[in-house]
Amino acid sequence: MRDSAGGPRVLLRRLRELMAEALDPQERLDHIVREIAQNMVAEVCSLYVLRADSMLELYATEGLNPGAVHLAQLRLGQGLVGTIAASARPLNLSDAQKHPAFTYLPETGEEVYHSFLGVPVLRAGRTLGVLVVQNRTMRHYREDEIEALETVAMVIAEMIATGDLARLTRPGIELDLSRPVSMTGLPFNEGVGLGHVVLHEPRIVVTALFNEDSDDELDRLETALDSLRLSIDDMLSRRDVAFEGEHRAVLEAYRMFANDRGWVRRLKEAINNGLTAEAAVEKVQSDMRARMMHMTDPYLRERMSDFDDLANRLLRQLMGRGPDALAEILPKDAIIVARSMGAAELLDYPRQKLRGLVLEEGAPTSHIVIVARAIGLPTVGQVKGAVSMSENGDAIIVDGEDGQVHLRPQGDVEEAYAEKVRFRARRQKLYQELRDRPTETRDGVPVDLMMNAGLAVDLPQLAQSGAAGIGLFRTELQFMVAAAFPRVEAQERLYREVLEAADGKPVTFRTIDIGGDKVLPYFKGAQHEENPALGWRAIRLTLDRPGLLRTQIRALLKAAGGRELRMMLPMVTEVSEVRQARDIIDREVRHLSRFGYLLPTRLKLGAMIEVPALLWQLEELMQAVDFVSVGSNDLFQFVTATDRGNTRIAERFDPLSVPFLRILRQIVRAGDQYGTPVTLCGELAGRPISAMALLGIGFRSISMAPAAIGPVKAMLCELLLSDLSVVMEEALANHSASTDIRALLRDFANKHSIAL
Ligand code: PEP
Ligand code: MG
Repeated sequence: MRDSAGGPRVLLRRLRELMAEALDPQERLDHIVREIAQNMVAEVCSLYVLRADSMLELYATEGLNPGAVHLAQLRLGQGLVGTIAASARPLNLSDAQKHPAFTYLPETGEEVYHSFLGVPVLRAGRTLGVLVVQNRTMRHYREDEIEALETVAMVIAEMIATGDLARLTRPGIELDLSRPVSMTGLPFNEGVGLGHVVLHEPRIVVTALFNEDSDDELDRLETALDSLRLSIDDMLSRRDVAFEGEHRAVLEAYRMFANDRGWVRRLKEAINNGLTAEAAVEKVQSDMRARMMHMTDPYLRERMSDFDDLANRLLRQLMGRGPDALAEILPKDAIIVARSMGAAELLDYPRQKLRGLVLEEGAPTSHIVIVARAIGLPTVGQVKGAVSMSENGDAIIVDGEDGQVHLRPQGDVEEAYAEKVRFRARRQKLYQELRDRPTETRDGVPVDLMMNAGLAVDLPQLAQSGAAGIGLFRTELQFMVAAAFPRVEAQERLYREVLEAADGKPVTFRTIDIGGDKVLPYFKGAQHEENPALGWRAIRLTLDRPGLLRTQIRALLKAAGGRELRMMLPMVTEVSEVRQARDIIDREVRHLSRFGYLLPTRLKLGAMIEVPALLWQLEELMQAVDFVSVGSNDLFQFVTATDRGNTRIAERFDPLSVPFLRILRQIVRAGDQYGTPVTLCGELAGRPISAMALLGIGFRSISMAPAAIGPVKAMLCELLLSDLSVVMEEALANHSASTDIRALLRDFANKHSIAL
């Protein structure tokens, strides 16, 4: 076996010089393959580039017939080169022609070569091409030679990604990197967004590829690894609630990976081959990502994503960059692409620049999705592979109506969507015209359409949507976006602002609903819980920490001085909890009145019906409160025992089903019986079809995301409610629990020309 001439360091140095020279792209490639062949003492070095039509085209060669360049091609999966591209793994063969996948391309004249080493050209886990060296003699390439060729492939990946080679493509042919990709997920919030990709966890672009001194780079790597390990240990030793449960498991995985000897060894090898520490992290990670794409085990894929996050953290350590540097250079039509993200993180982006959200995870009633809906962001969730397929700045379209995401769309797709946006604008205009019409059904039944809100940014929507008031103000959102517990003054300020914006329209403030999936990173009181949704949350937590509740009640009472104040308690399980809360409120009222504060003119206290146990206390409850509001997100979660944040079962059961609608109707009836107003403020209120069902079983007030008011009102104005009530009554009384209520509703809508 012959030794390489000069080793990978010399080769990388030569490549660096070649990159800096003023050459045209083909010349540069020709030089590069020649250098590689010489350096690796190979007779052949060839580069194949993957095109959008899944063909691998020969782009440059040293040793094969030069006339075959841009002519010889193999399908993805075909021949040795196609196999390497499809599997994203190297192939090292001493007698290539004996390999079952070997395909002979006569135009190349490669029949005289026996040994073959090919590596995938990878970037961010995507295969962009294949780099091959060949020798006449039968030899087996060494590990360090494979490593060296992979390192060189990384440099070539960079050339492809920066568009250097795009100029060499024939007209009408595109490289795979710029291939349009359409992905399907679940529509989480309607609307269509056209814009450009912003990766929430940006892949850091490594620009300095070659090192000057490997020892220095190894030192930098060690230092960065040390601080990475320390920061993980530090996070693990904190007992914050934010680092419990799932989050803790992820951190444990990080710690394991950060100490993984194989990973560290591969990083060091890449540095010894001449890369900077950053480029080494990028290379090792890209290799792993490419392999991950071929894994089917969801658990392993998930762990690999953790590894990805870890590599990004390490890169940030090395580059001394904060996680949010990108927000500053946000395009004005940003579409955020993320694996998953916290509700508060979304609010960190300037709203006016956001056009849409794409999540690989998420569920329709998870809080990130509720916040996206609150700020009217077209959202598609559960889009597999969205992050790895996207590059910052790629053109992208999010269709929140049918759950489609189009990455790097072609002209005709873009045109179709521009038309869709124009159509929506016309519909929006129709909703605006409807806004000033009375909100009543075709047969004259008035209905209150209220909106849900939670932050000051939502307030302009009150006038724009024509909502009758705020049926649910989620006060915990202020807590979730803050760095520490908001002080009483800050709370009072927000509540006052809300009441002023409402200008006499009713506003229902829900006392803080934290715990469960609404985590406050600064709240030290909570502990790890096996089942947080069933745990210490909402009213349970605030009754145990009356200081928290008292502060909020005081802020509310002061802000509503001289006005009506409506307060609502979340997650009530027993009527006695309402009584305890009322005691605290009464005490605060007495306290403020003693100090001469202006008090609310009227105080109404309501309870949310979210816990099934309340269904057997309706009589007592209706008499103990001034109003109730059904939290259908939680009620449905508990009634059907399906975690509202769990993507796997998100669509499994339908709230528009006989059993759940029977429950809701029972609540309406109990309210009627005791003269207690009943409303519903879960996500069910916001879709025309489910809003129609709610009206049909007796609801006359519902609260939804502001963007839903127009479509729901359009449905309502066409609705003959008396007819629908008969249909629903009959369906819930006589039909079996498996009757398809959704089909029944669609049928009714069709017959009456109601657009759903
Ligand atoms: C609900 O549970 O339906 C609800 C409105 O409350 P949240 O979604 O904030 O839990
Ligand atoms: Mg709830």
